[in-house]
Parts: sequence; C-alpha cells; structure tokens
Amino acid sequence: MQKTCTQCSSSFEITDEDLAFYEKISPVFNGKKESIPPPTQCPECRMQRRLTFRNDRSLYHSTSNLSGKATISMYHPDRKYIIYTQQEWWSDAWDPLAFGASFDPSVPFFMQFTALQQRVPRFPLFNVDSENSDYVNYAPHCKNCYLLFGSWFNHDCSYGQTLTECKSSFDNLFLEKSELCYECVDCASNYRTSFCHSCSNCSDSMFCFDCKNVRSSVGCWNLRNKEYYLFNKPATKGEIDTTLAQMHSDRGLRTLRERYGQMIRERAVHQALTGSNNDESSGDFLFECKNVRQCFSAYRCQDMAYSARLMDQKDTWDFEGGGKGELAYESMSNDFAFHSIACTTSEHLTDSHYCDLCFECKDCFGCVGLRHKQCCILNRQYSKEEYDRLIPQIIEKMRADGEWGEFFPVESSPFAYNETMAQEYFFLTKKEVLKRGWKWRDQTDEMPTVSKIIPAMQLPDSIDDIPDDILNWAVECEETKRPFKIIKQELEFYRLMKLPIPHFHPDERHKRRMAQRNPRKLWQRKCHKCGKEMQTTYGPERPERVYCEECYLKEVY
Ligand SMILES: [Zn+2]
Ligand SMILES: [Zn+2]
Repeated sequence: MQKTCTQCSSSFEITDEDLAFYEKISPVFNGKKESIPPPTQCPECRMQRRLTFRNDRSLYHSTSNLSGKATISMYHPDRKYIIYTQQEWWSDAWDPLAFGASFDPSVPFFMQFTALQQRVPRFPLFNVDSENSDYVNYAPHCKNCYLLFGSWFNHDCSYGQTLTECKSSFDNLFLEKSELCYECVDCASNYRTSFCHSCSNCSDSMFCFDCKNVRSSVGCWNLRNKEYYLFNKPATKGEIDTTLAQMHSDRGLRTLRERYGQMIRERAVHQALTGSNNDESSGDFLFECKNVRQCFSAYRCQDMAYSARLMDQKDTWDFEGGGKGELAYESMSNDFAFHSIACTTSEHLTDSHYCDLCFECKDCFGCVGLRHKQCCILNRQYSKEEYDRLIPQIIEKMRADGEWGEFFPVESSPFAYNETMAQEYFFLTKKEVLKRGWKWRDQTDEMPTVSKIIPAMQLPDSIDDIPDDILNWAVECEETKRPFKIIKQELEFYRLMKLPIPHFHPDERHKRRMAQRNPRKLWQRKCHKCGKEMQTTYGPERPERVYCEECYLKEVY
C-alpha cells in the first residue's frame, strides 16, 4: 500500500508485514479489538516527531514548585510544567491521582492529555537509581557521572551520550563496556583508547578506525589482531611511544588528527552498513539482530521496524531509545514495556497506552506520573469493568479526530524543537521550525562564576603546563565562544591519559562526534570495488571507499 505523508508529502510504502504488525498490536477491550490504522506520516517524519519529545542535554537551573528548592531541569524555567525535585517526585508526599479528570467526549483526547501533563508534577531529570550524578539525564543507574545523557550503568563517566556499562571515560558517543576511553565513537570493549571510531577489543591505541583486537597502535584502519602498528605499518615500541608523546600537546594532536582523517578518507575501506551477526535485517549499526527493518543502532533485537537506539527488544515498530521489552509501538524511552502504544519516558508498563512518566503500571490509558497503578484513565481510578467500558468510547473519539494509533503531535512536546534530539538527527533552521508552527528557543548561557575566562587558543599547549588553578577559570570555546568549565575529575583524567585540555564547549564536542556518524538514512549506491548496487548510509556524493558486505569481508578479514 502506497501512502502520502501528511507531514512532508513524500510517498511511502506500508508493507504486508507492517499491516500484520498493526493487527497484532491492536488492543482488545471488552472483547472487541480496536484496530490500529496504518500511520499517516512516513517513517522519517514519525521518527522526527518522537524525537521532539526527547530533550537530553538542554538543561536549566530551576526550582521545585513544591519546596522552592533549587534543581537542574530539562524544562526551561518559563515552562508551563510543574517540577518537583528528584527526591520529592519519587516520594509519597504527593498523589498523582489528585490531578485526574473525567474524560470529556466533546474535547479531543490529546488536548485533555496535554492539559493533564501541565497539571501533574514532573521530575526535572530522568536519572533513577543514580548516585552523585546530578547533571545526567536519561541516564539511570549511574554513579559519579557528569553531563552524561541517554546512558545507563556507568561509573565515573562524563560528557557522553549512549554509554552502556563504561568506566572512567570522557567525551564518547555510543560506547559499550569500555574503560579509560576518550573521544571514541561507536566502540565496544576498549581499554585506554582515544579518538577511535568503530573499534572493538582494542587497547592503548589512538586514532584508529574499524580495528578489532588491536593494541598499542596509532593512526590505523581495518586492522585485525595486530600490535605496534603506525599508520597501518609495523612499528617499534619506541616509534609508537614517540608518536603518542606528540599528543600531550594540542598542536601535536591536531597534526596527527589531520593526517589520520586524510588516510581514512582516502585509504580505509568503509563497510556499506556497520554491524555484525545479523539475519535478514536492514539498517545501520545493527548487532546480533534478526528480521529488523530500517533500524539504527540496535543490539540483540528481533522482529522490529523503523526504530533506533535500542537493545534486547522484540516485536516492536516505531520505537526510540531503550529496550528490554516486547510488543511496543510509537514510543519514546519506554523501557521494559509489554504491549504498549504511544508511551514516553516510562518503565515497566503492561497493556498501557498514551502514558507519560509512568512506572510499573498495567491497564492504564492517558496517564501521567503514575506508579504501581492499574485501570486508570487520565489519572482517575476505575474498576476493570468501568475501564473496559470507557476506553472504547475514548478510542472512538480519538479515531474521529485522527488521533488513534498516532504518536502525540509535535506541538504538544514540552520542549522547543532545538532543545531536543530531533535537532540532532533532523536539523532545521529557526525559520523552518517556526514555519511549521513548532517551538524554538534561542540559547543563552548563564555566565559561570569564575575568576577569569581564557580564550581556548591561549591555553598552555601541553597538558604538563596546565596549572591546578584552571579549575577556577572558564575556557572560551574556540568555535562557539561559549564559556565552559573544566571539572576536577576531568583534569585528573587528562593528566592520567596525557591529553591536552579541550578547546571546544561540551555541546560543540558532542556535535563534532555526531558528525562522525552517518545519518539515519539509507541510500542506494554502487560498491567501490565490484560495482554492485547496495544499500548504505554513505550518501552517493561522499568520497569514502564504500564496499559491499562481500567485498568488505574479502578485503578486511
Ligand atoms: Zn514524511
Ligand atoms: Zn562489492
């Protein structure tokens, strides 16, 4: 079935497999199946819409509406939302059911839900079970972490995004089970590596691309099981040490980075789609996946489509961030979910739909901020019989208004477009955002309280010459001129790793790492080696030598 996207007007296909999934996910109330209709937007617009509800890194100083206590919050202080501190929100000091309302059949459901979201208190950041980590968001189960986002189970990590079970690592993006890593992107099981991309099981190495089980090497690409290699040639330990010594200074680092970048563009072989051990799957950065279609960054997933950033998930369409669940649809950060449609920032939901900030709930519909509840609608408690009778009436109204089966509209997101992850994956200018009727917020930095601000270029070149006093200064970003501070753990890390102080604001560093990853888009392109047509996330105009799976395996393994 071909459809035209109501957002971007492009034509998109709804496959038989899609239709079978919509049938499977359709919930049953009172013995009657409430069919989920095919989506009205194309997969990309749907992904973009979900991402507008996810603000990881735009944080503000705010205060609790309950106690007036100061807190860091992902909601701008001029928000329409009620904020409680983390501790207050998770306490029994308040009752979310006190904010409930009866469903009004004359008003669209989404409008009633948005009004409820504005009445029910919200936690300022999503960091459950975290210790000494006040500035992390969407990063549960972390300890001693700072400015870490979309991550879980990490210790002593800062300035990263999508880190899983890592230790003592700074400035990384998509890093798993690694330690002492710096500026690594898409790496796993590394130890003491810096500026590495798509590497695994590597140690004591810098500037490596697509290397596996490589040790004490610098500036290498496509290597397997090697030790002491310099720009893909065997080297002595002395030569490696001399090269590594260059990196104590910012100038040395830049020279090396430039040479490495050129080599990777001109000589390295790039896999059309990154991933391994997949079966019948399409997408990028897929690992041990089976029957996964148009997914990005998925680990150990099965029977999925149009989803991204997830692990151990099954039977799920249109999902962003999280995992360990089954049968979910049109959700964003809905972990450990079982049969759940259109839920955001929730955990352990069963047969619950259109919920936000709900935990350990079953049979809940259109609820906000509930914990351990069953049979609630718009935060009001019902008996199972009343629940089953009322839900079909709500769905009928939603169907009439074109809401049933759709995710929440962008306009109802608590965030401005450019505060969210949508801006990272689907960049729009202020003009484009406003033209669509979406929100935009101009960024303003609060000036840090420091004794002086030093332009990045005036920093001592070598880490050996950086005084302890730098902790009392702010550095002015070389690119954006935004001031940023160096924290104590960070300085200790640079000294241990013999790395110079960064010259860029943490947001700019993140932006540059994001630019190293390919977009969530699949193109048709010819293999550089055999000329065969293939699917890839490398756009047709890009200069890299992109190989099909067969040619890549022949060349690299
Ligand atoms: Zn579209
Ligand atoms: Zn080929």
